[in-house]
Amino acid sequence: MDMNFGDIPVKVTYSRRRTLSMKFDVTGTLMVNAPLRVSEAEVRSFLNEKSRWIRTNYVKVMDKAEKARSLSVEEGGRVLYLGEELSVHVGGTHRIFKIGNEISFPEGSSMESYASWLKSRAKEYLTVKFRNRAYEMGITYRELRITGAKSKWGSCSETGKITLSWHLMMCPEECIEYVVIHELCHRLYMDHSKEFWAEVEKRMPDYKKHKKWLDDNSYLMDVV
Ligand SMILES: [Zn+2]
Repeated sequence: MDMNFGDIPVKVTYSRRRTLSMKFDVTGTLMVNAPLRVSEAEVRSFLNEKSRWIRTNYVKVMDKAEKARSLSVEEGGRVLYLGEELSVHVGGTHRIFKIGNEISFPEGSSMESYASWLKSRAKEYLTVKFRNRAYEMGITYRELRITGAKSKWGSCSETGKITLSWHLMMCPEECIEYVVIHELCHRLYMDHSKEFWAEVEKRMPDYKKHKKWLDDNSYLMDVV
């Protein structure tokens, strides 16, 4: 069912569940999950109860949507690389290259061109960074894969298979460093226990700042 809550579009999905829950999608539509046979009036009173949460999060999600829209591969546009904003030029070249804080794209390039450029850079950059850090920490792993994951920056399996998302190439270097340390510390603790976080903090005392940046900017995984 589609409805509106003031200016906010709301999409209600019914399923076998016991309680109402909601979250915003990247475009600012409020996605409500409702148990079967809940009436529109009941959904509305739920939304009214949660109006403070809705207001706060709507502002956040719209800010992110605007930031995401402002990244584009067109003359005068901008993209992110290692946390730095690069001004985009299009045309006059057959390949993508970066000079200082400017980046040039061939005519007809799109966000996909930027994505494949990020991917190819990620292969070397993330692999070297990870390998060096693992060596320095004296931690072993089985395999490192660079993936296009859009839900998490990195992962570590029980068997020591690590993944890092190439979307990290848009993030500041300290944030990448934090994800690398985070995944390596999972080789010592497979959970997010107090011991695990103590281990992370030992390697990176100001990790909370970088973790927050990544949490606040996870929309970047949806940009390309
Ligand atoms: Zn973790």
